This record gives sequence, C-alpha cells and structure tokens, in this order.
Amino acid sequence: TDGFDPYALRAQFPAFNASDWVYLDSAATAQKPQCVIDAICQSYMAPVANVHRGQHQASLSTTAQFEQARREVAAFIDANPSEIIWTRGATEAINLLAYSLSHTLTANDCILVSEMEHHANLLPWQLIAQRTGAQLVKIPCCVSTGQLDMDAYQQALTTRPRIVAISHVSNVTGTRHPIEAMTALAHRHGATVIIDGAQGIVHEPLSMQTLNADFYVFSGHKLYGPTGIGVLYGKPEALATLAPFHGGGKMITDVTFDDHTLAPIPARFEAGTPNTAGAIGLAAAIQWLKQYDAQAIDTHISDCYQSLLDGLKQRPAIKLICPQPHSTIVSFVVEGEHHADIAELLSQQNVAVRSGHHCAHPLIKALGVEGTVRVSLGAYNHQEDIQRFLTALDKTLYLLGV
Ligand code: PMP
Repeated sequence: TDGFDPYALRAQFPAFNASDWVYLDSAATAQKPQCVIDAICQSYMAPVANVHRGQHQASLSTTAQFEQARREVAAFIDANPSEIIWTRGATEAINLLAYSLSHTLTANDCILVSEMEHHANLLPWQLIAQRTGAQLVKIPCCVSTGQLDMDAYQQALTTRPRIVAISHVSNVTGTRHPIEAMTALAHRHGATVIIDGAQGIVHEPLSMQTLNADFYVFSGHKLYGPTGIGVLYGKPEALATLAPFHGGGKMITDVTFDDHTLAPIPARFEAGTPNTAGAIGLAAAIQWLKQYDAQAIDTHISDCYQSLLDGLKQRPAIKLICPQPHSTIVSFVVEGEHHADIAELLSQQNVAVRSGHHCAHPLIKALGVEGTVRVSLGAYNHQEDIQRFLTALDKTLYLLGV
C-alpha cells in the first residue's frame, strides 16, 4: 500500500537493531517498539504513586494516565471504558470468567468449548466443570481443513449450553473462526459467549459492537505491548452477572468486619495494586499501531505469509498442517523427524520458530501428530525473513538427511 514502509516500521524495534536474527515466533509474543519501552520507563521515572489512592499530585497524575490507558484500549475495540477490566493476560481473564460464572452453573448445565483451544481456554472450564458438575462438551475440529465443524456446533447448541467459549484465531493452525456467526447462533440458544482473542486481536481491527460477544479477552504482550497486562472486555449486562473474583483493596465501597459492599464495575474486578506500567505500555502499543493504516500492515503481512506458504509448499518433505489461505500462522511437520530437532537446527542458524504442542494438546492429538513446527509473523517481518527462513530450512533438511 502507498506510503507504508515495512523497513521504517521494523527500525523502531531495538530487538532487531541489536542482533541479526529472524524472528518468526510472534504468536508466542511480539517484540516491542521503542515507544512502548519508553512509555514503561517513563511511568517508573516520573514520581511513582499508587492509582486511585491518595490526593497527592503524583497519585492523581498516575491515576489519570492509568484511566487514559483504559479509554485507549476501549476505543481500540469500540467499547466503553467501564467495560474494560485489567487482568494479567488472557489466561487470567478466562480464569476470572470461569470462576465468576461458576455460580450460574449446575450439574444440569453444559459448557461448549472447541477442540482447538489453547489450554488457557480449556483448563479453566475443566476446573469449573469438575467443581460444579457441569458437562464440558466439545465443538470438534475438522482435521482435513483445520476448521470447526459447524454442523456439530449447531447440533450442540440445541442442548442449550450455558457458556460457549471459542478462540478468535487458533494459535496452532492460524484458523480464523467465524466468531460473528458463531456468536449470533449461540445467542439464539441463550448461551453466554466468550471469545479468546489472544491471537485474533493482533491482526484485525475489531468492534465489540459488531461482534456482539458477551466477553472478549486478550493479552498485551502479543500486541507489541508489555507482559503481565491483559484485558477482559464484557458487555455491561454480562459483567453484572459475574460474582467477584479476587478480594482486596479497591473492589469495595464499604467494609465491616464481616461484610462488604462491592464497588461498581470495573473496580469490582480489580482488587489490589494494578500493573500501572503495563496498562500505560499497552496503551502506547495501541497508539503506535494506530499511526499505521491497518490495511497496509495487513497487506504487507499477507504478502509475506503467501511467500512463506508458497516456499513451504515447494518443499516436498514439508507436510503443512491445515494451512489457512489468509493468516499469519502456519504449522508443519516433516515425516520421520522430530519438530524440536527442526527448531533447534533453525535456531543454530539464527532463525526463531516455535516447536511443540503449543499448549493445545487436544488439537495436536486430533490432528494425529506429536507436535508441529510453527512459523508466525508480526508486522516487523519482511520478505528477507521468509527467504532466510527457507534457506535455513533447506540446510536443516539437508543436515537431517531428508
Ligand atoms: N489463547 C491463545 C489462542 C493463545 O495463543 C495464548 C498465548 N499463547 C493464550 C490464550 C494465553 O495468553 P497468555 O499466556 O498471554 O495469558
């Protein structure tokens, strides 16, 4: 796209100035632009103070920045600031939901979860199902396409599950699930819809008004922001159904020795001193992203992704695992070779990819593999990264005698 310079974008990442490596593991975590690092540093260099506690100037100023960060995140996903709850990440947000919705579940209820979920969107539901007696029901993956079986989904909805929990984008196959249609269908059957946006939020502008899910969660660190900060978005009426999660400071308006009055939302779900620097850093990451035309970045990454897919397809030893036509993530295996050996040999050539089960054991088992090598892209990758990866892959295959 006119005016978009991928090299100028990449130059803002100190991680690439310092060393000559090929980073193809952005689905695990993204590198950080200088402005995000600066925002975090500045938040500690300015006189620090706790937020929402104290009348002194430093506290008021930190609180203002912290709440500005909430407004920034809200605007980014077309939501209201009162619908944004800070968490440590996607994992904590889903655990909060599972815990705080458990009072609505009985042994007669079921929770519908896809077979393609990251453990972060499976284990919290297993734990709550075990505690409440509710039944965990699977939306199966079609292993030839890497997509969810929509007939099975519709069938499962007729049993009127209480909760439907699905990812926006799979961290293994890169599949973008039809979350808008799935949400509408689930609502028709009275379910509460939870979307794990850890991978999805990164590569697609999103409106909570259009999506209409009850809850949407994501982590800051995959979105070029810091670790230890994440977001739980909830519709006001959905947030109102949640029981409190952590107890402590700031989640109450009044306390007696044996009781308390809950604070309004979002404070109700933010007990304890929050990760102020994390919130400010995430807001800086969003501001950084917003200076670019999202379409231009998407076109750039899509071009790189296409070269990656084409290159992999030209190598007969490579077996792609459900490659998706338009994505930023692709998994593959090499018959007879261990995924970890491939990643290790690539690493020796300064190429970083991920290998293993990607915290998605049920999906890996359904796909009939032991694990995969996963290549994933960020906005800072360029065509040379892809070419260097493919060259390193050829040497890897040669060394393995494939
Ligand atoms: N869901 C998906 C789809 C993910 O890819 C990840 C991170 N790998 C998570 C949830 C969990 O994110 P975090 O570890 O940042 O809480």
